[in-house]
Amino acid sequence: MGAAAPLAEAGGPALNVARPDAERAELLAWVKDTLRAEYGERPLSPRRDPLHELISTILSQRTNWRDEDAAYQELRGLGDWDAIIAAPTEAVAHAIRRSNYPESKAPRIQETLRLIRDAPGGYNLDFLQELPIKDALKWLTDLPGVGVKTASLVLLFNYARPVFPVDTHVHRITTRLGAIPKMGEQAAHRALLKVLPPDPPFLYEIHVNLLRHGQQVCSWTAPRCGVCVLRERCDAFRVHDGKVPSWKA
Ligand code: SF4
Repeated sequence: MGAAAPLAEAGGPALNVARPDAERAELLAWVKDTLRAEYGERPLSPRRDPLHELISTILSQRTNWRDEDAAYQELRGLGDWDAIIAAPTEAVAHAIRRSNYPESKAPRIQETLRLIRDAPGGYNLDFLQELPIKDALKWLTDLPGVGVKTASLVLLFNYARPVFPVDTHVHRITTRLGAIPKMGEQAAHRALLKVLPPDPPFLYEIHVNLLRHGQQVCSWTAPRCGVCVLRERCDAFRVHDGKVPSWKA
């Protein structure tokens, strides 16, 4: 199916809210194929070890990737995980100062590491590979500073579990496209998982290519719709007659 679905509220500013799930699923499959043609195939393989992924994702909250990486490198400069737990919290906050909100992230990171160290597997998180997904998500989101996005990211990227991390880029673009009705980021995890296939390579590729599309084309304040390969099926482009406004979450 190539044509866009009719708008639920013809003539109004709201994006499509009445699209059937099968149509949302088909739209997302088209998005994945279209972004692959634009940005290439993205095979699923862990980019860093699970604990690195977990801590880096906490640091990435409201922080760009350069500052996230700088904060992580300086944090590791304090020593091994035991040394980071034992360090004064002010020293941890100073080490991660390039990440936003270092004073609140530092104690959460130390407590998260302490809980992981004291768990049966210690710093090895590989038990997450075998746990039922619901339990794995719960175990991770019970850690301080770990939300469903961070937990999903570790489970998908490191353990190829069929979950879907929804970051700000994924949330914004899938909403503008009309793949989901407008809702909060937390609810978007459930709504998107419901219409995406339980196929980790598919989930990984559409996640990373949406991230890239959000960084390069479909930005918060000035989406570059004129060069966007998704515009022919984008609700926001159609509703706003090509002049898509800044994103308001
Ligand atoms: S057409 Fe515009 S609003 Fe729609 S996905 Fe592309 S850049 Fe974003």
